[in-house]
Order: sequence, then C-alpha cells, then structure tokens
Amino acid sequence: MSQSSTQTYVDLEARYGAHNYKPLDIVVAEAQGVWVTDVEGRRYLDGLSAYSSLNQGHRHPRIMAALIEQAGRVTLTSRAFRNTELPYFEKELCELSGMQRALPMNTGAEAVETAIKAARRWGYRNKGIPADQAEIIVCADNFHGRTVTIISASTEPGYRADYGPFTPGFVIVPFGDADALERAITPRTCAFLVEPIQAEAGVLMPPPGYLAKAAAICKRHRVLLLLDEIQTGLGRTGRMFACEHEGVKPDALLLGKALSGGVYPVSAVVGSDELIGVFEPGSHGSTFGGNPLGSAVARAALRVLKDERLVERAAELGPPFLARLGALHSPVVRAVRGSGLLLGIELHTAARPFCEALAHEGVLCKETHDKVLRFAPPLIITPAELDFAYERIARVLTSRALTSAA
Ligand SMILES: *Cc1c(COP(=O)(O)O)cnc(C)c1O
Repeated sequence: MSQSSTQTYVDLEARYGAHNYKPLDIVVAEAQGVWVTDVEGRRYLDGLSAYSSLNQGHRHPRIMAALIEQAGRVTLTSRAFRNTELPYFEKELCELSGMQRALPMNTGAEAVETAIKAARRWGYRNKGIPADQAEIIVCADNFHGRTVTIISASTEPGYRADYGPFTPGFVIVPFGDADALERAITPRTCAFLVEPIQAEAGVLMPPPGYLAKAAAICKRHRVLLLLDEIQTGLGRTGRMFACEHEGVKPDALLLGKALSGGVYPVSAVVGSDELIGVFEPGSHGSTFGGNPLGSAVARAALRVLKDERLVERAAELGPPFLARLGALHSPVVRAVRGSGLLLGIELHTAARPFCEALAHEGVLCKETHDKVLRFAPPLIITPAELDFAYERIARVLTSRALTSAA
C-alpha cells in the first residue's frame, strides 16, 4: 500500500469528523497482543494501551472467545430482565476487590457520575447533610472524564472552556496535600474523589503516605473516600489496585478501561453495602450497563489478569524499566517517574515531536499535558519487547537532531 492510504483516512476524518482529538497519523488496521499494524503494513509496539484499557493486550484469545461465545447466545437484555452473566460478574468483581456490591455501567465517566450520585445520596440520607448542599472534594489537575458534571470538578481550562453553566458542589484542593484536604472538609462534605496517581495530568505521583493519610482523614470526618482507579486499577501499577500500595481500603472503587480488556466498554463502581445500598429501583440505570455481552467479556478479562499473573508482571517488569529510563543521559529529560508499568518521562520541552519520532521507530506513545511522554504498554509485554521499546525510547531521547531542536 502507498503512503496515500494513510492520507486517505486522515483526510476523511478531517473532512467529516469533529476535531476534538489530535491523533498521531498512524491508521491502525489490526492488532494482536502488544503489537499493532497500520494500513501501510508497518508494525508498532503499543506503548499506550488505549490509556491502560489494554492491560491484557489486544484481542486476548480468552477474552475474544468469551465475546464470541456470548454473542452467539444473547447480547442485550436491558435491566428490565435478568441475564446469566451479570450476577457472576458482580460476584467476581466484589471478590476481587474485597467490596460488597457492584454497580455496572459502560464508560469510565458513567462510573464517576454513578459514584457522585451515590455519595450525594449517602450524604443526605446517612450523614444528614441539608438538601442540595452536599460537597465533594476533588483535586486540582484531576481527570475523571468528560461529562458536564465531571468537568465541573476539573481545573483544566481546555476541558471546560465555554461548556458552562457547571454543576455546583465541588471543592478543589491541591493533589498530594493531606492537610489541605482536612481543612477543606465541612459538615456538608460527603466525599473525597481522587486518583491514586494522576495519570492524565502527567503521571503525577503524590508524596508517599498521602493516600493512607487521606483515608484516615476521611474516616475521622465521616467523609467517603471514592478512588478513581479507572486507569491505575487492575494491575497497572503492580498491585491489583493502586490503593493497595498504602494498604488503603476506600468506600468505593471506580473501575473501567481494562475491566473489559479493551474489547467492549464496561465500567463499574464497587463499594460498601452502605454506599451502593442508596439506590432503589428507578433511581439510577443504564440501558447497556450490566449487559450479558459486556459482563461475559469483563469476567474473562478479570480471569486473564489473575491466571496470567499480570499484576505480578507489572510489579516485576516496571521498576527495572523505570531505573533504566532514569539512567538515560538525555538533555531533554527532566524527570522520570511511575509505578508498575505506568511510567511518565517528563521533558523540558514539548513531547509531541518525540512521540512522532518514536512512532517512526516502531513504538506508539502519546504525549500527555504537552511535556510528558507516558509509557504504559500492555502488561503481557515480555522482557525482550521491553528491550525493543527501551532501545527506541533511548535513541529518540538522545537523538542529536531532536534534542538540539528542542
Ligand atoms: C479514562 C478515565 C476516565 C474516563 O473514562 P471514559 O471511559 O473515557 O469515560 C475517568 N477517570 C480516569 C482516571 C481515567 O483515566
């Protein structure tokens, strides 16, 4: 195929699509495991994993088999009727997370919305907060999704511009500052919503002990701790859930992305009996949430995480890779950081040209917040494949042409 093949797709999208993304001009046609192939037949190692949705790798055979098997029976019942997959999905997710109840949705943003609704109701009904006055504390530079309510809690101008009026009831504190959290709590505070690591903001790590401190503060003030582990959960950081690094048990975990291994959108809120118990029939729902196809896929995706020891793999492979990145002598690298296989390389300069050069070398990465290069490959990656990625990352970050232009 010719170069014009890629251009055809780029032009079509430019002409007919909304311009709310700025993708690299790589048109993916096929994928398997950690590798994707573009329409020109070029192969790339996937260093993004669809923002950690593909922890199990592209088209994992066991997840695909579950998809196909369930598609041959029934795909959608709506919650007007029951299905055979949802109850087991709920049970397995509760067992995996040590939580009591699960509420399935489709996208991450819907899981966040669900948690916000649950927390507000809990605040009115269980904590006695006066009607319509519940406050949820969130962190500066958070990323929780794109709905109007969620961006109402955002500090990112690009996510908010001209989308008002916004949903009230959010209070913003700096990320990583437990004292600021405690000072922000009032009798109207129902919850603290936070990511254990701010991945979208540039793989920002809070100081050690932050999450444990925040959890203790929440407990002391009877404030719910809602952890958005949509990106950090399900093995990415070398624990099943990132909060395990500090022995924290939240009131609710928000999951999505790798919950379905990148095969079908599935998200969920898992939490305490007391919190998820606030919903009665008719008070919340989703046509596709908990559908048998998604539930079967998610059950398989969770089994793959366990059977293939992907959590342990991230824990084993991540730290040495981070150390190698840290030892790189590059004039453009400002800092490297991360946990498990969620890694960020912060540059002194724009990361985009380096992502483009890396794609040319056969590794797909995407800049986040201009100056950070995130590397988060599927957790099934082998040491040899990590070497492949490292060589190319090192070559690009030390390239005379790129670093002197920067
Ligand atoms: C991706 C993400 C979301 C939103 O998920 P969508 O499926 O895109 O709606 C929310 N929180 C975090 C931390 C995420 O990474």
